[in-house]
Amino acid sequence: MKNLQVQKDSGKIMPLLFVGHGNPMNAIAENEFAEGWRQIALTLPKPKSILCISAHWETNGTFVTAVEKPKTIHDFYGFPQKLFDVEYPAPGDPLLANETQKIVTKTKVERDFNWGLDHGCWSVVKHLYPSADIPIVEMSLDYGKPPEMHYELAKELSSLRKQGVLIIGSGNIVHNLRMINWNSTENYEWAIEANEKIKQLVLNGDHQKLISYKNLGREVQLAIPTPEHFLPLLYVLGLKNEDDQITLFNDKTELGSISMTSLKIGT
Ligand code: ZN
Repeated sequence: MKNLQVQKDSGKIMPLLFVGHGNPMNAIAENEFAEGWRQIALTLPKPKSILCISAHWETNGTFVTAVEKPKTIHDFYGFPQKLFDVEYPAPGDPLLANETQKIVTKTKVERDFNWGLDHGCWSVVKHLYPSADIPIVEMSLDYGKPPEMHYELAKELSSLRKQGVLIIGSGNIVHNLRMINWNSTENYEWAIEANEKIKQLVLNGDHQKLISYKNLGREVQLAIPTPEHFLPLLYVLGLKNEDDQITLFNDKTELGSISMTSLKIGT
């Protein structure tokens, strides 16, 4: 019955992506992560639009970008000029912003006309869709919400999957900037262990443990010192249907304390 219902609604349900974005330089690097993003894009149906939940837009309340032409935000410092020169001129999608505002009823979603695309979004999406022809809306992370409320909010977005919208959560499963080591190829034991533990919980569908990640032990506490890079993962898990397959890609830890592990959910 469930499958019949799905077919009646739409035909195709868009997959979901959680992407580890890591170092902003990945935006312009020719490396294995850029290649991983390009390869995964080839497996996706062409989206009508993208809704991106990025670690780099934290607000008091929940907002969606509602501008026609979102600006490329260079929200970092200390990087080469060529990274500041990157523009990603994808259009916005004010109608999708309105639709998002309409379908989310348990939380007030407000429209924003100032934000654009931060590097959590464009540094990855530019590899997925280099021609910048897919409209994008960003949704902010309300820093006042506990993890379970982000997970619940995500569930309210599920009808967008049936409307050709590719929902992307962009963060990092393991993200400890204070302990980052730019010059080492060695990764901390705790970083590797935390990444494995979280990956197993994701693959086992144990979302409750992931929502309560603060209780997952010392290595996970070190891996997630602040919530913003982890919360985008809870969005895609909240949106996952029971029968959606999970495909891991860019499954690698680097710089000591950053994991790039990414997921495609659904087909
Ligand atoms: Zn980041």
